[in-house]
Amino acid sequence: MELLHHISDVRALRSSLGNVALVPTMGALHAGHVSLFQKAKALAPHVAATIFVNPTQFGPREDFSKYPRTLEADLQKCREAGVDSVFVPKVEEMYPAGCPEIAIEMPGLSDTLEGQKRPGHFKGVCQVVLKLFNIFTPSHACFGEKDYQQLRIITALAETLNLTVEIIPCPTHREPDGLAMSSRNRYLSATERQQALAISKALRAAELGFQQGFRQTNRLTTTMLHILLESHLLVDYVAAVDPITFKPVQEATKPTLLAVAARVGATRLIDNVVLGGK
Ligand code: AMP
Repeated sequence: MELLHHISDVRALRSSLGNVALVPTMGALHAGHVSLFQKAKALAPHVAATIFVNPTQFGPREDFSKYPRTLEADLQKCREAGVDSVFVPKVEEMYPAGCPEIAIEMPGLSDTLEGQKRPGHFKGVCQVVLKLFNIFTPSHACFGEKDYQQLRIITALAETLNLTVEIIPCPTHREPDGLAMSSRNRYLSATERQQALAISKALRAAELGFQQGFRQTNRLTTTMLHILLESHLLVDYVAAVDPITFKPVQEATKPTLLAVAARVGATRLIDNVVLGGK
C-alpha cells in the first residue's frame, strides 16, 4: 500500500493508473468506512483512500481540534481492506498560506438541516471534495448514506458541474443493536452509548409506522421525537424531506428521507432512513 503525503506524489502515481475508485474520509476508521473500501474494490482496479480532517468544514465551536486522530490503526485497517493507496495530507498541503477562499454554495440543498445547524459546513465539504476529485481524477467515488445530505450535495455537484467522476452511494453500516457507526461514537460513555440507541430506535419506529400505512409525516416525526426525548437526547432536528430536493414532505406518498440530528451529552450524532425506497 502506498502512503502519500503530497499532491505531487498523488499525481506521479496517478499517471501510471487506469480507473481509480476514491474513498474520502476523515480517519478514525470503523467498519462503515471499510464497507466503502469493499464497494470501491468492486468498481476499479485501484482503490485510493484519503484521511484528512478538513478544517474548513468545522464551525468555530465544533470538534475540529479534538476530532479523533488514529492514523496507525487507520492505515492498518486500510491495508487489511486491500486499499492500494492512502493520501494523508497536512492542512498546509491542502490549504497553502495565502490561498484565496473559494465558496461553492448550493442554495436549497446546502442551507437546510445540517447546513442550517452547521453554517458553512457544506461549503467546506464541497471545497475539499472538489479538490480531492481534481487531485485524483477518480472514475468513481464512494460516499455513505449515513451522511445523506452530503451524499446528495456531492452527487448534485458532480452532475451540475459535469464532473467525470461517478458518485456511488453506500448503505449505512450499523452496530448489531442498530446504532449507525460513526467516528464520533467513540466520544460516548457507556451510558451515553445506551441513550444514543434512541436515534436508530426512533427511525425504526417511524419505518414501522410507514409500513403499517401511516403517511402523514408529522405523525411519524412525532413518534420519533417522543422516543428521542424519552432518552433525554437534545434534538437538533427531526425532519421529513424529499431525498432529492430536500424540501419538506407532508405526506410520504413518494420516497421520503427521515433525518435526525441529536446530541447525547456533548456528542452530536446524525442518522436517517429513506421511506418507500430510494
Ligand atoms: P467521515 O470519515 O465521517 O467523513 O466519513 C467518510 C465517509 O464514510 C463518508 O462518505 C461517510 O458518509 C461514510 N460513512 C461514515 N460512517 C458510515 C457508516 N456507518 N456507514 C456507511 N458509510 C459511512
